[in-house]
Amino acid sequence: YGEEITNVNEVVGQVYNDFKMIHPDFTFTLDDDTHDGVYVKIYRNHLEQVLVILLDNAIKYSEKRKEVHLSLSTAMATVNIAVQDFGEGISQEDIDKVFNRFYRVDKARSRDKGGNGLGLSIAHRLIEAYHGNITIESSLGYGSIFQINLPIMQNMPEEDDNAENPIPGIKTVKHSSD
Ligand code: ATP
Repeated sequence: YGEEITNVNEVVGQVYNDFKMIHPDFTFTLDDDTHDGVYVKIYRNHLEQVLVILLDNAIKYSEKRKEVHLSLSTAMATVNIAVQDFGEGISQEDIDKVFNRFYRVDKARSRDKGGNGLGLSIAHRLIEAYHGNITIESSLGYGSIFQINLPIMQNMPEEDDNAENPIPGIKTVKHSSD
């Protein structure tokens, strides 16, 4: 994919505000540990699309406790975006399958909710195309946490001309035990 550099805080904040407005019956929280300015090489529209898929699902599959927690944090060279709901959850058996095209858990129950079973497969393929990953933790009846991890743009081009070689003369040597 392309070269667009996107401010993750901005996109998450925007989608969060949009959902708060569209779903006033839900409580949304946003926990941002990153102090702004986390940049990822991804089309803004693609990141937005993935977030919309995860948030749409969180709402669609939460009937009783209408609460969605969003959080943004960094670890090493990765940014983590987590979307947590307290809805119906997904069984361990189904977790491996929900990224498959057209897969829907319990067809009879989800038929009236609309959808094709495509959202998560699209989200998964998009994030992998940007060298990231999506993980799921879920417990049937208690809710789910979907997490997106993406590599951070470490050195913004205009910030540091010497980014390639921060400590001159020192090379990284890879050790191998066999
Ligand atoms: P659409 O094509 O509109 O996204 P969909 O929601 O059925 O339809 P996916 O987003 O791919 O498709 O999700 C696949 C299935 O995974 C859903 O049908 C649902 O059973 C399950 N699922 C997804 N997100 C959640 C969630 N947050 N909580 C519980 N189940 C979920």
